Amino acid sequence: MALTETSLIERYFRAAGAQRADVCLGIGDDAAVLQVPPGVELVATTDTLVAGVHFPLHSPPASIGHRALAVNLSDLAAMGARPAWALLALTLPQAQEDWLGEFAAGLTALAREHRVALVGGDTTRGPLCISVQLLGFVPAGGALRRSGAHPGDALFVSGCPGDAAAGLALEQARLTAPPEARAYLRERFLFPSPRVALGEALRAHASACIDVSDGLLGDAGKLAAASAVAAELNFEALPVSEPLRAALGDEQARRLALSGGDDYELCFAVPAAGLGALLAQLPPQRWGYTRIGTLRSGSGTCVLRAGTVMEFSHSGYQHF
Ligand code: ADP
Ligand code: MG
Repeated sequence: MALTETSLIERYFRAAGAQRADVCLGIGDDAAVLQVPPGVELVATTDTLVAGVHFPLHSPPASIGHRALAVNLSDLAAMGARPAWALLALTLPQAQEDWLGEFAAGLTALAREHRVALVGGDTTRGPLCISVQLLGFVPAGGALRRSGAHPGDALFVSGCPGDAAAGLALEQARLTAPPEARAYLRERFLFPSPRVALGEALRAHASACIDVSDGLLGDAGKLAAASAVAAELNFEALPVSEPLRAALGDEQARRLALSGGDDYELCFAVPAAGLGALLAQLPPQRWGYTRIGTLRSGSGTCVLRAGTVMEFSHSGYQHF
C-alpha cells in the first residue's frame, strides 16, 4: 500500500467520529478504554457489508461509509438504545486515497449526527468488506425487545418501506422511474435514515420493536413469532411514498412495501391502552410512523385486503 496502515488510520479515521468525554482512550493503543455511565446497560451489535452482496461494487464510497454505520444504528434504535461508540473493521483491496476520503466522510457525517465516537478498529487487505461494531446504552432493564407484544396490540411502521428496494433496483438498472422519483428512491437506498430518536422515544410506549432490514412482512413476522402472537397487516394501510407510487403504481408499490429490503425503519407494537399516550406524545405526522395492523392470538402473519386474506407465493413476489 502507498499509505502505511498507521498513516491511513491517522489520516482518515483518527478524527472520524464525534468527540466524547466518556472515551478514556480511543484510537492509537491496542484497545479502547470506555467509561460506562452508572445505571445503564450496554447494548452491543455488529453488522458486516460485503461488496457485491450488500451493496453494488461501485456504490459511491460516501454511501458505503454511511450505510456501514446506519445498519448498526438501526439495530440499536430497535432496542431503544442511545448509540455511543463504534469500531470499524475494514478490509480493502488497496488503499485508494479518493475512495478512503469519501468513505470516511460518509461515515463521519452520520457518526457526528448521532454523537457516535469511532474508538477503534482493524485494517486489513482483501476483498472490500466493512464491519462495524456499535455500542450504546439503555437505562437498566429498559431495552425494547422483539418478544414483548401481546394479542390486541397495534402494529406500526416508521417511514415508507419499499423505497430502498426500489432505489437498489434503480441503481442496478432493473427498474426505471421519472427523474425526480429516481433521485429520491436512490437516496433512500444509498443514505438510509436510522430511526434512533424514535427508538429511544418508544421505550416509553412500545411493547416490542424490530428494525426492518429484510422486508416488512418477514420482519413483522419475526416480531410476532418472538412474542408468540400472530400478525395481521392491512394492505390498504401500508404507507407508500409518492415517488414509489410514481415508479411502480399503487399496487406494486404496496407489494414492495411488504417485501423490499434495506429499509432500516422500525416496526413496533403498542398496547391498545397505550395508544392515546403514543399519539399525544409522539404525534405520527411529526415522528413519521403509520399503523399497519394488529397483533392477534395465534401464530403466523397474514395481510388483509378489503377484509380478505391475500395470498403470497412461497418464493415471494417478483417485482422487476
Ligand atoms: P493492533 O495491531 O494492536 O491491533 P493496529 O495497528 O491494528 O493495532 O491499530 C492501531 C490503532 O488503530 C488501534 O487503536 C485500532 O483500534 C485502530 N484502528 C485500526 N484500524 C482502524 C480502522 N479502520 N478504524 C478505526 N480505528 C482503527
Ligand atoms: Mg495490539
